[in-house]
Amino acid sequence: MVKQEKPTVAPRSRPPAPAKPEPLKTPVDAYVLLMPKGTDFRIHKTDCKSYKAQKAQSSYKGLQDYKLEGIVNQLEVIRDVWDDQIREQWEEEHADPEDPEKEIPDYGTAPWSWLNANGYVHSVEFHTCLNGLPQQAKGAAKTANTRKLAKTELATLVAEAAGQMLEDLLGANLADPDDPYARAAEMITSGFKGDDEIRQCVAQWLHGLPCDRDRWVAAGMAIPDRSDWAGFAARRAAASDGQSPEEATDELEEDTAPAMDGDEDVELPTE
Ligand SMILES: [Zn+2]
Repeated sequence: MVKQEKPTVAPRSRPPAPAKPEPLKTPVDAYVLLMPKGTDFRIHKTDCKSYKAQKAQSSYKGLQDYKLEGIVNQLEVIRDVWDDQIREQWEEEHADPEDPEKEIPDYGTAPWSWLNANGYVHSVEFHTCLNGLPQQAKGAAKTANTRKLAKTELATLVAEAAGQMLEDLLGANLADPDDPYARAAEMITSGFKGDDEIRQCVAQWLHGLPCDRDRWVAAGMAIPDRSDWAGFAARRAAASDGQSPEEATDELEEDTAPAMDGDEDVELPTE
């Protein structure tokens, strides 16, 4: 066998090191697409040139853009797009059936490792336009959590204020000209079948607020008629019957589980 002689190469200078990907300047604004096959969510920067074409192939075709503002890392995006599912799974895992009063850590604190183990990380694909977006930059987990908690607090205050306003409205003294709600109360109550219908109407409007739902319930607000609120409705019913929350939840699952389809709003007056 003839051994081929390689010419001797004497590099004059070292080849340049491959370029590191530019770190992405954060915060960025991003769009979320739900893809019909494969990866569930695909995330683009709002100025990505591929976005429009991919949207046309996505389940969001023809719908409004799903925009996330001020994104600093992937963790924050994953938490946002899977919010309801993370909350449900996290709270189920951390609840103690023996102790319904047990304090459950906020689901906004669910760490990367937990999200990864439960499939959330792999179901979100970041398009190349977001190359360089850190998974969870130094201190970013804390930042994201701080932002999440801030949003929850803000939403909860909005819900509580709405609850208080409603009670002031429904308790208005129609005969008192100084009562700020007297005129509105008369007009509004004449358009509904009763106070509970008014409370329910407002609850339906506000059901998607990312608020602390325990505080919503504690404020005496009506429970939205939505499947993701069903547990709270059962708990309230139990509290008023003197039943334990578990009994109520069991009954609820037996009685109504097949009928729940999630996005049905109760019929509301349209005038
Ligand atoms: Zn893109």
